[in-house]
Amino acid sequence: MDSPQELAAAITTGERKALSQAITMIESSLETDMARSQELLQVLAPNIGKAIRIGITGVPGVGKSTFIDALGTHLTSCGHTVAVLAVDPSSSISGGSILGDKTRMEKLSQDPDAFIRPSPGGDAVGGVARHTREAMMLCEAAGFDVLLVETIGVGQSELAVASMVDTFVLLLLAGAGDELQGIKRGVMELADVLVIHKADGDNTESAHRAAREYTAALQLLSHRHAAWTPAVMTCSSHTGDGIEEVHKKVTMHREALGSAGIAENRQSQALHWFDSTLREMVVSTFLTRSEIAATLPDIREQVQNGDLQPTAAVMRLLAT
Ligand code: GDP
Repeated sequence: MDSPQELAAAITTGERKALSQAITMIESSLETDMARSQELLQVLAPNIGKAIRIGITGVPGVGKSTFIDALGTHLTSCGHTVAVLAVDPSSSISGGSILGDKTRMEKLSQDPDAFIRPSPGGDAVGGVARHTREAMMLCEAAGFDVLLVETIGVGQSELAVASMVDTFVLLLLAGAGDELQGIKRGVMELADVLVIHKADGDNTESAHRAAREYTAALQLLSHRHAAWTPAVMTCSSHTGDGIEEVHKKVTMHREALGSAGIAENRQSQALHWFDSTLREMVVSTFLTRSEIAATLPDIREQVQNGDLQPTAAVMRLLAT
């Protein structure tokens, strides 16, 4: 087995096999793999943090993979190298990832300047997203200068992705008079760029109308950054109309935040990940302690039967 130093050297010279191998290691829950993964990230630290990080969300069917295919291909034609990652907590339930699937991004999957990695497995959004975030860092170290992170927006996954990117793009569809339906308000508030997608053919007019309505609706919401008012645009991944403009808008968003704003954002994101990982790991470490695991079923039963109050039960466990 390669040492973290050897693996790091192979990753930074652009060896795709080493990158894939390292991502698999990061996704592993074996304690030895976890320790080696962290050592690897430490070795790679000087090469991490230089890429443009973009998150993309929207309901299934909105056209995320088609959009990523179009945007990614546009980016590589501009000379960028693009890595596509995903946070799809449902992949562990369905048994296979529906995101990041190569067949869903036909052009990009054949592009030598692109790398597509399916969503990691795992049962909790936090764990899946943490692995994606670390995989994202490995891709940066491998030299990819744009990272596209996709989420289908199940549970907390949008928040998790918004917490690992610089610019968060929300794809929307124009509906018949119900433009604001089905979109959680909290997700709207996370978005830096809103794209009314599939603005082609008969949809063109309604997409432009939806864009005006969303622009008006956004005035009522709070914004994440004082320096940036979320932009609303239309685009079609089938015709390619608006793709270049989305790229430009992302660039404008980065310019508005400035390098200091982006760095500050990433610092608070790092703290967010520390806090959530700490909670997650403290809980899992505690619950896997043998004496806790042994008494837990009995205590749960007592709570269920009403013999023990939930708080008293937790206090008893903590005192074990
Ligand atoms: P996802 O589930 O959000 O990843 O959506 P897909 O990318 O799989 O697209 C869902 C459907 O929308 C497919 O049938 C696509 O062909 C279609 N679609 C995607 N982008 C566009 C677009 O720009 N215009 C139109 N008219 N259809 C699109």
